[in-house]
Amino acid sequence: SSTGPSGQRRERVGVMGGTFDPIHHGHLVAASEVAQSFDLDEVVFVPTGEPWQKGRVTEAEHRYLMTVIATASNPRFTVSRVDIDRNGPTYTIDTLRELQAARPDADLFFITGADAIAQILSWRDVDELWDLAHFVAVSRPGHLLEVTGLPNGDVSLLEVPALAISSTDCRDRVSRGFPVWYLVPDGVVQYISKHHLYRSVA
Ligand code: ATP
Ligand code: MG
Repeated sequence: SSTGPSGQRRERVGVMGGTFDPIHHGHLVAASEVAQSFDLDEVVFVPTGEPWQKGRVTEAEHRYLMTVIATASNPRFTVSRVDIDRNGPTYTIDTLRELQAARPDADLFFITGADAIAQILSWRDVDELWDLAHFVAVSRPGHLLEVTGLPNGDVSLLEVPALAISSTDCRDRVSRGFPVWYLVPDGVVQYISKHHLYRSVA
């Protein structure tokens, strides 16, 4: 349903969840391409709380601020604290429930890379996920963009310009004294340097 009771067009809001440790141009290109292809009014970046599927990550406040810095110049990009302000591990179902409650009149589009969509079948409450958002899986170098065994129409696949950038590689480069200029936004390069992030073992 794309029109509300008043006949007005419903707002279309992308949701880009991630650890963003640090945010990089792969994330930003993916969000921008989905916004273009799906005619989104806004993309909300949602840094995770304590990720349950990863080991130690940089403290949430640093990841949140780097995400703000990286998205600040785009009028359609915003950042939400819902996951970092909620205690405990982040589950996508909780993220979407909270965002949907805050914007009952919006249609949500959850944006995820090809590596992350592969895990989608193992998520909790998978049936409710389909009711809360449409899922858009974007291509990512090194990961096959294919989804099998999902209800038809719930997941769209989108080829985006291939940027072989990962946060893991960015952290590793910083720890070895290699530059991350042009892999992450300039302000994020400067933030990493200012706060001595990723200096030791990634
Ligand atoms: P890490 O290496 O720490 O796992 P990451 O680069 O995978 O970091 P995440 O924060 O884990 O970044 O990713 C958030 C979302 O962005 C995920 O859905 C992921 O698939 C997607 N994504 C990350 N990098 C890219 C990329 N280069 N191209 C397209 N999508 C990407
Ligand atoms: Mg990842």
